[in-house]
Amino acid sequence: MRIAVLAVQGAFIEHERILRELGAECVELRQGSDLSGSFDGIVLPGGESTVQGKLLRELGMFEDLKRRILDGTPVLGTCAGLILLAGSLENSPERYFATMPILVRRNAYGRQLGSFSAEARIRGVRNEEEPFPLEFIRAPYIVSADGAASPIAVIGKMPDGSEGENVVGVRYENQLGFAFHPELTKDVRCHEMFLAMCRGT
Ligand code: GLN
Repeated sequence: MRIAVLAVQGAFIEHERILRELGAECVELRQGSDLSGSFDGIVLPGGESTVQGKLLRELGMFEDLKRRILDGTPVLGTCAGLILLAGSLENSPERYFATMPILVRRNAYGRQLGSFSAEARIRGVRNEEEPFPLEFIRAPYIVSADGAASPIAVIGKMPDGSEGENVVGVRYENQLGFAFHPELTKDVRCHEMFLAMCRGT
């Protein structure tokens, strides 16, 4: 199993460590020529979506990656990666791959709640009754998801700190998006689920 990890900026090493631990081979995407080989899945890590989006275009990777996602290659987007996948952004005129029918607000949690931890069950992972530790860092908020994009993780805290149903994980066809950082915890079940999608199981 070969997984291509976008490695232009952000927390890509942490994804690679978990993917390798689970037996996958990782290919780092740093320039257009890195896309010449074949791979079974794509990881879009956390970081700064504006920088990643700009570099993807400048380095000649944007169109090829978008086509692969639309053609069905499984993709895992975390935090900034989720922003790259979002169909539209509430507080920015930018759009990146825009392959997932969700509306997202960047940096939604403000200064005080910029980074926080929570727990939630994640639908589809092994032992799904067991809560998963969630780490949020200047996270995006999923304002709405089209009916075809299913919520797979929900926390009880809204961006303004009030209680409510806050969807923090979404699956849409071959695309998996999380507002949190599963690569920053010891729990590997999100990556296991992604690798199962890559294997087609
Ligand atoms: N705030 C970042 C953005 O808008 C995302 C933060 C992250 O990936 N940890 O791109």
